[in-house]
Amino acid sequence: MKRVFTFVFALTLIASASASQPEKVKPVKNIILMVTDGTSISAVSTARWLKVYRTGDATAPVTLNIDPWLCGYVRTCNSDAPIGDSAPTTSCYVTGHLSRAGYVSTYPPYKGKDNIEPVDSTRAYAPMASILEAGRQLQGKALGMVFTCQYPHATPADCSAHYYNRGAEQLIADQIVHNGFDVVIGGGNYYLTSESESYLRTNGTKVYRNDISGMRSDRSNKMWALYGDVDMDYDIDRNPEEQPSLAEMTKTAIGKLSKDKDGFFLLVEGSKVDWAAHANDPAALPNEFLAFDEACGVALDFAQRDGNTVVIVVADHGNSGFSLGRRDLGDYGHKSLETLFSQVNKFKRTADGMEMLINTQPFDSLRSLFKTYEGIDLTPDEFNLIVNCKDYKQSPIPVEMRKSDKTSPLYSSYLSGIITKILTKYTPFGWTTGGHTGEDVFLAVYNPNNQRPLGYTTNIQLAHYIQKLWGMNGKMDSFTDQIFARHKEVFAGFNMDIKKSEKENVWPVLTVTNPANGKSLTAKAFSNIIEVGGKQIQLPSVITYVDRNDMFYLPKDLNKYLK
Ligand SMILES: [Zn+2]
Repeated sequence: MKRVFTFVFALTLIASASASQPEKVKPVKNIILMVTDGTSISAVSTARWLKVYRTGDATAPVTLNIDPWLCGYVRTCNSDAPIGDSAPTTSCYVTGHLSRAGYVSTYPPYKGKDNIEPVDSTRAYAPMASILEAGRQLQGKALGMVFTCQYPHATPADCSAHYYNRGAEQLIADQIVHNGFDVVIGGGNYYLTSESESYLRTNGTKVYRNDISGMRSDRSNKMWALYGDVDMDYDIDRNPEEQPSLAEMTKTAIGKLSKDKDGFFLLVEGSKVDWAAHANDPAALPNEFLAFDEACGVALDFAQRDGNTVVIVVADHGNSGFSLGRRDLGDYGHKSLETLFSQVNKFKRTADGMEMLINTQPFDSLRSLFKTYEGIDLTPDEFNLIVNCKDYKQSPIPVEMRKSDKTSPLYSSYLSGIITKILTKYTPFGWTTGGHTGEDVFLAVYNPNNQRPLGYTTNIQLAHYIQKLWGMNGKMDSFTDQIFARHKEVFAGFNMDIKKSEKENVWPVLTVTNPANGKSLTAKAFSNIIEVGGKQIQLPSVITYVDRNDMFYLPKDLNKYLK
């Protein structure tokens, strides 16, 4: 009896644990993954109230483009910590495995009882294949990425590269160039070396640098369009004649990718919602999210017309402990929408944008710039902090004579820090940290077949849902083993030599020789090019290298060239 009871109880548990996940997921042609980086639900609610304030209709049932499709919460975390970092969080969505802070689609080392899910220690530091790589190599899908940070930054890197250190941006950048993307639009001109640019051009990809009209008139299917040296400007600081909106970038990418008869995967990242939260910038945060939501509108419109596209909108972690309501405001709980948002609505520049403005305009315009762009009449305290800040280039006070009042609650050692504090003072917003937070994030999914995760979903379950959309669930690890095998196993019995350069940004080269017939092969790390008998061959996947275990990871069948 007891055994029967236990069995039934266990069945009930399994049923209730998976109730939020759709049992059958019909495969679709296209997947659009939209990640709003570092976005707590309070930031979404605040952005929605700001939009309501602007449209003047609080009775409208739907105000954000994502609203009709919100369907649950997602846990986001690292493999060994509940508060997620951008590298492992989106890595999990596209690979199905948790990993450690800083790890870009790379398997974590074992960390004992701190592991949140079981970790296979033999896979430490190995690349984990992404659904994008599987889609392109197994099903001929086109791939695209759209974002506003630099392209080797964490989230786009998660979808296009593999390394245990997100800080190694040049290594990641070079790898992305060689990983078969059809459309890349975002920031990061600095990282695109002339060698990378010529590789792209030689392979039929159009490249536009800070060239919005070039991007707009391009009719090709393969295009890179980069804006800014590193990141693009925040949406409200953006000059629309120089930089496109995230919505336009999304529309451009979909226009090109949707020409592929096999389908496509597009990542769209609202990269700098996260940066706004890190900076505690009350002008940047809601406006940057609204710009992301506009891009969601573009993707959702396409998906609903297309009928064979799933759109997944999700954040990768919370950030800043942002709140609508702040302790020192006393009775803020009774204040009207007008009282809470009239000032917020006047912000026309982020703190970064304002810093740029006041640093390039004469000192006598300081007060009027704050009035015009932020709707603020600077108080003597605010004025004094700015003119005494070392970063303020137009100050009439010589740098060595500047003395900031460090006891002021608005004090910061840097100018944009002072500006964010001034702006925040005029809002009902609060912040508890300048770092990430560990609460669940929102999930919105549009699926033409209405098969969606509902309720609470772990990041791993969300990855499995995405895999099911392309019939890849349960097949990802064996695909990883196929394209990222260890060179010492692939070439066992052959002579192997790894050459490392002292020079910066010159990656290791592996040379393998078959002693039986003298045939040899060279493979350059973070590239998809090998050389066999003086001939270059382009592989469908990128070759990576990990210094920690002195290992190249490359296709399992590569030894066929030496036979
Ligand atoms: Zn993030």
